[in-house]
Amino acid sequence: MTNNNTYDVVIAGGGLGGMLCAVILAKEGMKVCVLERDKQIGGCLQTFSFNKKVFDSCVHYIGGLGEGHTLHTILQYAGVMDKLLLKAYDANAFDKIAFGDEEVMYPHAQGLDNFVEQLLPYFPEEKDALQKYIKTVTTVSDHFPLYRLRTGSADEKAAVSSWGVTQTLQDITSNTKLQNVLAGNNLLYAGVAERTPFYLHALVTESYIHSSHKVMPGSSQLSKYLWQTLQQHSGEIHRNAEVVKLAEENGSITYAETADGQRYYGKQFIANVAPEVLLDWVDSPLFRTAYRKRIKGLEQTISTFMLNVVLQPRAVPMRHHNIYWHANQNVWDAVQYQTGQWPANYAAFFTEDAQNAGYAESISILSYMHYSEVAPFEHIINRTGHEQDRGDAYAAFKEIRAELLLDKLYQRIPEMKGNIVAQSTATPLTYRDYTATPKGSLYGILKDINKLAETSIAARTKIPNLLLTGQNVNLHGVLGVSITALATCAELVGMEYLLGKIK
Ligand SMILES: Cc1cc2nc3c(=O)[nH]c(=O)nc-3n(C[C@H](O)[C@H](O)[C@H](O)COP(=O)(O)OP(=O)(O)OC[C@H]3O[C@@H](n4cnc5c(N)ncnc54)[C@H](O)[C@@H]3O)c2cc1C
Repeated sequence: MTNNNTYDVVIAGGGLGGMLCAVILAKEGMKVCVLERDKQIGGCLQTFSFNKKVFDSCVHYIGGLGEGHTLHTILQYAGVMDKLLLKAYDANAFDKIAFGDEEVMYPHAQGLDNFVEQLLPYFPEEKDALQKYIKTVTTVSDHFPLYRLRTGSADEKAAVSSWGVTQTLQDITSNTKLQNVLAGNNLLYAGVAERTPFYLHALVTESYIHSSHKVMPGSSQLSKYLWQTLQQHSGEIHRNAEVVKLAEENGSITYAETADGQRYYGKQFIANVAPEVLLDWVDSPLFRTAYRKRIKGLEQTISTFMLNVVLQPRAVPMRHHNIYWHANQNVWDAVQYQTGQWPANYAAFFTEDAQNAGYAESISILSYMHYSEVAPFEHIINRTGHEQDRGDAYAAFKEIRAELLLDKLYQRIPEMKGNIVAQSTATPLTYRDYTATPKGSLYGILKDINKLAETSIAARTKIPNLLLTGQNVNLHGVLGVSITALATCAELVGMEYLLGKIK
């Protein structure tokens, strides 16, 4: 063991969760090291380009980045807020919800009052319901102290955690159309009827209603600036460092070992990966068989197919909103689609052409996809540094799916037809291989009101100096993972102290 390889905190995984923990702890004077498997840091914050256009691999827009909002405050503390170039979405519609062939699209607007105001013309009889909806979202979010950057008790959360999203929306209004419009962007949390907690809907939706932004030119700016702050505080990131083992001795982790045999010793360890991945690294009696079985048996949220298209210049007018389309009137159906029914939904994200303002230069489209659809190709791993061709059948599968998706898009955005100059696709296998998320799941473990305790993962593990962070603890998304990073770091420095500094 050399002194150079000994740290106060070793963090396995350089996604948003790991990077933000690293920054917070390095700012406390701790010697911190992040081990990232990939060449690119950031995990889901990664971007890529083709045809000279930048594309986000996952994060297309972010909620809560406005002045005074929770994420803004956290990222300000992390030294990135002033550097980020943000593009605000249309105040009167950051998202538009569409159904089948119905021409009308229903807006989700920024600002709590404006949200009501913009939907009211479509539901003139539902003013009370709309106001009740906003009040319920706000009240439920208030029950999550960290989302308000304050300390609080677990009882507060417990009081609302078991509310189901579909039931709560039904309690707010008997108007089924309005229920579906309110949940129209449920791809943001991969919601499942009768199972997804309402708080997931509330926390995610409220953040976008507060403020909706796109990071320009792509979400990797976030990880870039986090890295800069980390360097200012003498933190290290080791890339191409795939953790394969966390060695436990006498009840504590002593070192992390990477695939090339390097060992990184530490006093504390944080895992920024799916709990299921962590289990494979640790051989310890402290992780009992029953615990391993429970974690390995947890259901993941559904995965996605992604199509990215580069457009002919000045061909497709820019939309400053996203479109969430559902094949039928029930927004909860898509997640349970049958193979022949694909695509059952899509979300379309537009990027403006800097040279031709008012026009889109590219569109990214996501549509739910079950992992089982690509399971025949799962034995082939393909990621940077481990490139492997999945073969002609896989290429044909992707091409057919891209065409099916485009057929649906042409109906709503006819200008796209004949104006695509290049395109690329990703499947659940792409997500599995690039972020090490089991089954390429969109947001990790599926939270379920019927199994609340089993599907809740704590930051503390059975090994005292091993903590968890990232989207599986608490909540996913840029806001959710940032909040979780606070919860993880608070285990080491204290919550009141940390919140005091951040605020
Ligand atoms: C398709 C898609 C679209 C999304 N869209 C949005 C959006 O618009 N807005 C939003 O807020 N959120 C969005 N999200 C959610 C958000 O991106 C994630 O919840 C969040 O970025 C997850 O961060 P994380 O740190 O938990 O995990 P990750 O970003 O997955 O980071 C984990 C890191 O661990 C690394 N790693 C894995 N195994 C090892 C190993 N053995 N050794 C070392 N390192 C390892 C990985 O390479 C990765 O860098 C989206 C997610 C997806 C998949």
